[in-house]
Amino acid sequence: RTRTSADLIRAEEPVLAHNYHPLPVVVARAEGAWVEDVEGRRYLDMLAGYSALNFGHRHPALIEAAHRQLDQLTLTSRAFHNDKLAQFAESLAELTGQDMVLPMNTGAEAVESGIKVARKWAYEVKGVPADRATIVVADGNFHGRTTTIVSFSTDESARTGFGPFTPGFRIVPYNDLAALEAAVDETTAAVLIEPIQGEAGVLIPDDGYLAGIRELTRRAGCLFIADEIQSGLGRTGRTLAVEHEAVVPDMVLLGKALGGGIVPVSAVVARREVLGVLRPGEHGSTFGGNPLAAAVGSAVVELLGTGEFQRRAAELGVTLREGLAALEGKGVRGFRARGLWAGVDVDPAIGTGREISERLMREGILVKDTHGSTIRLAPPLTITDGELRSALGTLEKVLTEG
Ligand code: PLP
Repeated sequence: RTRTSADLIRAEEPVLAHNYHPLPVVVARAEGAWVEDVEGRRYLDMLAGYSALNFGHRHPALIEAAHRQLDQLTLTSRAFHNDKLAQFAESLAELTGQDMVLPMNTGAEAVESGIKVARKWAYEVKGVPADRATIVVADGNFHGRTTTIVSFSTDESARTGFGPFTPGFRIVPYNDLAALEAAVDETTAAVLIEPIQGEAGVLIPDDGYLAGIRELTRRAGCLFIADEIQSGLGRTGRTLAVEHEAVVPDMVLLGKALGGGIVPVSAVVARREVLGVLRPGEHGSTFGGNPLAAAVGSAVVELLGTGEFQRRAAELGVTLREGLAALEGKGVRGFRARGLWAGVDVDPAIGTGREISERLMREGILVKDTHGSTIRLAPPLTITDGELRSALGTLEKVLTEG
């Protein structure tokens, strides 16, 4: 007999590492903003793969680009050129207002690559003495899971048991320009910041913070690296979240939605003086820049080039913000929202974020908790106004009826 959701969840336990605690839903099919489980129950996906599915599940233009490429060429390694990479790099550099692209696969790899490039830039261009470069990061950050990245995490569950850690990072409070200024000195290669802290609960810094970092890093002669892996590519109503303050960083890290929800694609995009420090043999990746990734990535850039998704996120973001504001005092303690992205602090008396997520799941809405009683909403940017209102209605029901 075919295995049920319960069978499949039970089957995972002995054979899969327990590094996640998923909601008990087993997805088998999906289209647009909707997913369907093994038994055929349908759910509205209000998480969208942590923003990897900004264009929804199986967007026709992206699926077509992937199919077309599957029939031509899938992998060459960078030992040879492939006929799709130039187009991907040209279009991505143009979309982000940068000069050069370093293609990688996952978000954490883009962050690691950005750190390496910033250090090399500090030694070769800025003239920092060998092995003395520092990078300033923010409290509450989330940049990925590698040993170097967890070295500057402030989340104990991400760090405990994984030392020894990589030195060279200074941690300052988020949204505090004075603290940042005090931490920057002649050894500073870069300031590495999420323009909005996603995993921390969609924390939006005060207006002027990003522009302040731009000004401060320019003055101090260090790089401004924006980790837009979760905030970028349409989510906040702009192509990049830094555009809300009209800021152009020296380096932007992209991932998640860059792969269209089909393949892992990430990239470091930067000015020529910065990415130009890398020479043959100094950095690389077997899969980075593969033709399938480049074809899908180019199709993603083309979708964003229309401006339609940024516009939808901005317009539907008003519905989201108004809907959440109406729930304040009705189970919602507070919320932060920009575009189609919100962190919602639920009254802990009603339940933990996990419990609320499970109740929403039973009502056909998929979300994920972050910390304590905060849930995150990040639907596909293809969601309709009606679907969004219906999800907000379900949230109200879950919060007020228990
Ligand atoms: N940076 C940010 C801001 C993220 O939100 C994430 C993932 O959630 C990452 C980096 C790491 O990406 P990946 O899980 O693809 O390694």
